[in-house]
Amino acid sequence: GLPTIYVITPTYTRLVQKAELTRLSQTLLHVRQLHWILVEDSPHKTVLVSEFLVHSGLTYTHLNVPTPRESKLQEGDPSWLKPRGAEQRNEGLRWLRETAGGQQGAQLEEGVVYFADDDNTYSLQLFEEMRGTQTVSVWPVGLVGGMRYEGPVVEQGRVVRFHTGWRPSRPFPLDMAGFAVSLRLVLANPDAHFDGNAPMGFLESSFLQGLVTMEELEPKADMCTKVLVWHTRTEKPKMKREDALQKQGLGSDPGMEV
Ligand code: UDP
Ligand code: MN
Repeated sequence: GLPTIYVITPTYTRLVQKAELTRLSQTLLHVRQLHWILVEDSPHKTVLVSEFLVHSGLTYTHLNVPTPRESKLQEGDPSWLKPRGAEQRNEGLRWLRETAGGQQGAQLEEGVVYFADDDNTYSLQLFEEMRGTQTVSVWPVGLVGGMRYEGPVVEQGRVVRFHTGWRPSRPFPLDMAGFAVSLRLVLANPDAHFDGNAPMGFLESSFLQGLVTMEELEPKADMCTKVLVWHTRTEKPKMKREDALQKQGLGSDPGMEV
């Protein structure tokens, strides 16, 4: 049958969380044979996310793992200081290896693993591009790294270098949204994981280095000439009025889930 696409998404509690999850889940609903692994950055599974998933209409697995406090960004820290979502992606990988790892050789179903942050924008075409992934497939990502786009450069059907605004010498100067890995490869390399202490810009490399070489990458999206995913970021809503009204006891109903 059709290879299953396993989408691993780290997520955390904030004002825009439900809006982000609504947007992403309603994209994923259009994709056949997809299994969403949603991993909360939290010591427990929240009611908001649990209820959200029950009504999502998706096939899913709900996991949680808190980012260790010392690895967490503090309010006011620059966003590039520490990688976000590393522990959660690893928890998704752990679940996959535990669940799918029992199957052997020919028994093992065809599958693809993709790491989809909750705030990006995904074209449906992207999922069909990645579905045939044999090792690691790659494509450009729009609006990322201070560039219009970043992505692999393909010559004669092979990735020869990367178009990036910063440190092209990194082993894999790719955004998280710019690659997918075959389930078979993930299971064949049980130690491959994201290094939560990786220096800025090296999180993707910390995982991919243990899996492939640049020469083995499979270029998708018309030989990496099309942008099918955008590294969009959502503005943090201002709560100026809310805070002012709250002081007068007139704040919004805290029982209203937003
Ligand atoms: N994330 C998380 N815990 C955090 C911050 C972020 O689980 O403390 C998740 C977030 O929901 C997203 C992913 O990690 O799915 C990447 O975070 P973000 O989108 O903030 O990173 P950026 O856009 O700066 O690359
Ligand atoms: Mn983001």
